[in-house]
Amino acid sequence: MTTAFYTHSDCLNHQTPTGHPEQVGRLQSVTEALQGFDALDRRDAPLAPDRLIGLCHPQSYIDRIAAAEPQQGCIALDEDTFMSPGSLQAARRAVGGACAAVDAVMTGEVANAFVACRPPGHHAERETPMGFCLFGNIAIAAKHAIMAHGLTRVVIVDFDVHHGNGTQELLWTEDKVLFFSSHQSPLWPGTGTESERGKFDQIVNLPLAPQTGSLEMRNTYVRQVFPMIEAYKPELILISAGFDAHRADPLAQLEWEVDDYTWITEHLCDLASRHCAGRVVSTLEGGYDLTALAASAAAHVQVLMEKGA
Ligand SMILES: [Zn+2]
Repeated sequence: MTTAFYTHSDCLNHQTPTGHPEQVGRLQSVTEALQGFDALDRRDAPLAPDRLIGLCHPQSYIDRIAAAEPQQGCIALDEDTFMSPGSLQAARRAVGGACAAVDAVMTGEVANAFVACRPPGHHAERETPMGFCLFGNIAIAAKHAIMAHGLTRVVIVDFDVHHGNGTQELLWTEDKVLFFSSHQSPLWPGTGTESERGKFDQIVNLPLAPQTGSLEMRNTYVRQVFPMIEAYKPELILISAGFDAHRADPLAQLEWEVDDYTWITEHLCDLASRHCAGRVVSTLEGGYDLTALAASAAAHVQVLMEKGA
């Protein structure tokens, strides 16, 4: 068995203004960091049709995003979120890659998968682009796992330093997904308190104070996240893999280290081994210091490969 790596050159065509943290160089850094990983099963992320995106967004929203794409330059959808020529195609690859990775893992073609596409997805709400995100990639992948593969217990772990507000909103009434988001608080977007629990108490928010570092994070996961996943007996584990909790990241102050990404990935893979034949699909979210992003993503994929071998 192998680890699949989904990406596509179309995801380099999604341009943001000069100086924007969510830049083309992020994806280039990640792919360069994985260049020596010869055992990866490299695959093109397919384009998601409206039918897949429609699992979480109304057609009117998809049409609005399509119509907003400019012929040249960048346009702002809000103060953070931009589109350029090619952005829609890139966003379709990000959704398509996540769903194809679910298919490949569920059918046993590969042990697990990492999807490195952009734009990221976990801030996109049902009818609102937000925080560099256009479509809710991981929430759509979870819905696809339920609809296409009949799953009833899907876990999503979002360890991006920002709250996964979009994933939370898209899955607020979804009783077949258990969603965890650990994030720095206070920090943009300001949501993600422990009192936000979803319609079925299936959403677990884990706010972490700035500068609390590795120990606080690990204690939180050991006490609150891993026992709940163990008891839930997931059929699939999805990861919103943002690497912006790293101490070098310019957007936050959570002070994780590369070794923390190794640690959390090992634990999530071990839980998947015990309950669902190791099935893990991880998708890239944030991470804005290019050196830290490359090292952290490489550490994450290294563990996926070791555990998937
Ligand atoms: Zn983030």
